[in-house]
Order: sequence, then structure tokens, then C-alpha cells
Amino acid sequence: MKYVLVTGGVVSGLGKGVTASSVGVVLKACGLRVTSIKIDPYLNTDAGTMSPFEHGEVFVLDDGGEVDLDLGNYERFLDVTLTKDNNITTGKIYQSVIDKERRGDYLGKTVQVVPHITDAIKNWIESVSVIPVDGKEGPADVCVIELGGTVGDIESMPFIEALRQLYFSVGQNNFCLIHVSLIPVLGVVGEQKTKPTQHSVRELRALGLTPNFLACRSAQPLLEGTKQKLSQFCHVPIGNILNIHDVPNIWHIPLLLKSQNAHHAILKQFDLLGVAASPELQEWTQRAETFDKLTNSVRIAMVGKYVGLTDSYLSVVKALLHACIACSLKPSVEWIAASDLEDDCAIQTPEAHAAAWGTLRNANCVLVPGGFGDRGIQGMILAAKYARENKVPYLGICLGMQISVIEYARSVLGLEDANSTEFDDQTPNPVVIFMPEGSRTHMGSTMRLGCRRTLLQTPDCVTAKLYRNPEYVDERHRHRYEVNPDMIGVLEKAGLRFVGKDESGKRMEILELSDHPFFVGVQSHPEFKSRPGRPSALFLGLILAATGRLEAYISKNQNGSV
Ligand code: GLN
Repeated sequence: MKYVLVTGGVVSGLGKGVTASSVGVVLKACGLRVTSIKIDPYLNTDAGTMSPFEHGEVFVLDDGGEVDLDLGNYERFLDVTLTKDNNITTGKIYQSVIDKERRGDYLGKTVQVVPHITDAIKNWIESVSVIPVDGKEGPADVCVIELGGTVGDIESMPFIEALRQLYFSVGQNNFCLIHVSLIPVLGVVGEQKTKPTQHSVRELRALGLTPNFLACRSAQPLLEGTKQKLSQFCHVPIGNILNIHDVPNIWHIPLLLKSQNAHHAILKQFDLLGVAASPELQEWTQRAETFDKLTNSVRIAMVGKYVGLTDSYLSVVKALLHACIACSLKPSVEWIAASDLEDDCAIQTPEAHAAAWGTLRNANCVLVPGGFGDRGIQGMILAAKYARENKVPYLGICLGMQISVIEYARSVLGLEDANSTEFDDQTPNPVVIFMPEGSRTHMGSTMRLGCRRTLLQTPDCVTAKLYRNPEYVDERHRHRYEVNPDMIGVLEKAGLRFVGKDESGKRMEILELSDHPFFVGVQSHPEFKSRPGRPSALFLGLILAATGRLEAYISKNQNGSV
């Protein structure tokens, strides 16, 4: 196993995850099999209980792991299926060590950070790196490890020490350290400053780790003089100073690395030059360049709760991007805070209310993504009603599906107080209810999580046609509430079509409306399995419908191209 460790210095938010996954892409393009591990030094066991406001989206894996959104980047970039163990947190490590201590496995020894925590980290890395994630048998050739946070953080110390020991034990031919840093430009003179990088490399060295590569983030390409200075002061060969300057879209980054011969230098260190081929990145080049040239755009109204931080819906945005590129369109995601659509807002902040409605009315389609808690629910219901009545394409994901059921029950069945028990546990018309297997006392990892099967009920629905008529679809889930099985009969009678159900036939998974160009609600999160080049079927349907091309696509196309 060859390890590529990616650390970060100077400031957070440098795009370490994208850098690390791009390194993986380039090595994969050389013919190597690549897996990845993300280390998050926080104490949470997993990202499941973390607020999207603070930390961005919670990414869900096939095995039900609720993990950091960077794992989504790895899955999309490397086209792999990771496991929950590919995300290591301080919480998980301590939990495993304390469990062992309680079992008496340490035979009376004093249990300490060094060596017990550090050993647990090393063992975890070594055992997870060999899990196959690309559908083939046997371990990958390379494991890219991203250490979250910034070097010098107290929380990451045990990880740094464990990684130092791992480096020492496997040797330089099997371990390569890439340190991502920032080269700011100060003042009118516009000089590229190397000092912050020098300091963070010094910090890394003080902890016993020597970077083999620097990946320098900058606005403009690095000047030769800047590289020389970095090489001299940071003790890194000039050929190993990589520069990730700003590019129009992230698909350029693997290309940027290739153009700087990063693959050659890494393979050289790994003694793999004879084994690996030169990287084939045609698909990436094409995607990056096509995207830059797109002119026509499609306006997607995203009506949600966490719209202040767009990372909260990262995978939804990526899935829209994948679908739009397949249709040669540029996505224009128009964020609408759901609460701005509500009547109360018209009184308190009329400008915000008018602007939100203006954006909604001007959009080509509406998407209500997943969410928790009651803020903005009424606004989402109004958006679903608007889309239904005005025949604007609508995709409701998880909460967005539940919203469309509540709206339908209120407007069409005339049950004005219909609600989900998540928002009103006393409602006389609970159309969405808490699932029997849920827990009300423990929040972490107690939802219906991960890959679950949906049986399609009829080939005569948009969903089946978009998925190309399979018997079933497997998508990832993350929810506690479901459509009330006792209300299905009345809802169906009133025209709501439940075209996808789980294997028991009692749990509603996908709904559609006839008499509408595209109105789909889905209990799962299809965004998590969308890939560049392989857009998620329902996102593609939304974008096609938004541009009036859905029918033509369905009638003519059963072979893939749009
Ligand atoms: N809050 C809803 C539930 O728990 C929806 C969850 C979601 O959108 N992911 O069922």
C-alpha cells in the first residue's frame, strides 16, 4: 500500500479535499487503484449530529455512514463507494480504545494517548486502506489520506504523531506527504508572500513530518522566484512545488496537477514509474472545457432552510451540475430562504418576501431539498403549491417529498391542518409520521440510513422511464418520518401516485402527479449517487422538464445520450 497524506496549513478552507481527490484522480488515471480516508479530528463520532449551518452537508454512504462532505468529493471524483470506516474521527478512535479498556484488553496497563490512541489510529488506517471500494477485488494500490483541520491544531496532534510513525515504518517509497498551503498577495505591489507557508512547514517539521510536496493555493500562477524561495526555505525540491491557482471550475484541478507533472514526481517517489502509465484524462479535459463554454442557463429555485451556507446542499448542487452538463446547460441555482416566502415575512420584511416570490416565479423549476425542524416549512409548502398549480417542474427530496404530501392533503383533500408530526405532533391529520423503528432519545445514527431498495410499481411513470425501467432502484436514505401508511388510500384516490414503494409495500418512496410536466417527490437522496458523466435520473428529469425537453428525451431515448 502506498499512502499519500494531505495536510493543510495557514488557514482552513483551502480546498484540501479537492486537492486530495484530484491527486487521487491523476493517480487513478495512471492506472492505479485508489481509495481514500478522511480524518476529522473533532470529538463527534460522526457527522450525523452536526448542523449543516456550521459544517455543511452531512454526506450519506451506502452502508448508512453519516460522514463529512469531503467523502462525497472522493466518491464523485474517484467514482468509488466508501464505507463509514473511511471517515476517522477522534470520537471513533477514543470510543474504540475505551471499549477495549473496559473489556480488559490492555491487561492492566495505563492507557495513554501514546501509544494506545496512536496505535489505534495506525491500525485503523492500515485496515481500512485495504477495503476494496471500486467494485474490484483485493486492496487498492494507493490510499489518499486527508487530515482535516490545520497543522498545529491541538485536536490533530495524536493523528500527526500516528502518521509520523506510519511514515517511519513504511518508508519514503510508500509514503508521500503533500502539504497544502496558501500564498497570499499583499498590497498594491502584488508580491506573492511565502512566509505563512514557511511557518506552517516549520510547524509540521517540529512535529516530525517533512513534506515531500507543497500544493500552493494562489489567485494567480506562482512566479518562478516564488517557487525558488519556497523550495529553498521549505526544503522541498522545486519540481515538487505544485501550484493550484484559481481555475474556472474544479474539474481543471486534476488537469493542472498533470500539467505540472505531479503524477511523475509522486510515482517516482513511490518507485512506480515503470508500472504506471501516463495519465489519461480526456474525459476530465472535455468536461472542464465544455463547462467553461456553456452559455445557456437554467434557473433552479432551491427552496430550503440552510440557504445561507451553500455547502449545506453540496451534493444537491453537484447533482444539478451533472444533470445540467448532460443537457449542455449552465445551472443557475437561485437560493430562496423558505421562510421568506411565508405570509409573516410579507409583514416583517416585505422586500425580502417580494424578492423571494420574484425569484420563485422567475425560475424554470423548483427543488425542495432535505431538511429537519420546522423553520420555513410553510414557505416550502407554498413553493410546492405554486409549482403544482402552475405546472412548474418540481423535485422534492426527502423533506421535499413530505412537503408535497402535506400540501396535497391541505389543498386537494381539503385537510387544512394536515401536517407531519415532526412539526405538529397533535395534528388531527398526520399525513407524515414518525417511523416505528426510530429513536426519540438518541439522535446519532438512529435514522433510516443508507442504501435501501425501492420497487417501482408501474412502468407507466416518469420515474421508471428516467431510470430506464428497472424493477427496483437503490438510493441512499436519511430520515425519521414517512408518509402515513393509513392515509395512502385517500391520497391515491385524490390523484397522488405512489410509483415507488419499499419491499414491504407499506413505505412510500416515490410520488408523482399526472397532469403535470414533472412533479416528483422522492423519500431518498438520489443526489448522493450522482456522478459527473452519470447524472442522477431524477435530477436529469427535472432539468429536461425545466427546458421543455423531457417528453422528447423519454420518447426518443433509451440509450443514454440527451
Ligand atoms: N425531517 C424529515 C425526516 O426525518 C426529512 C429528512 C430529510 O429530508 N433528510 O423524515
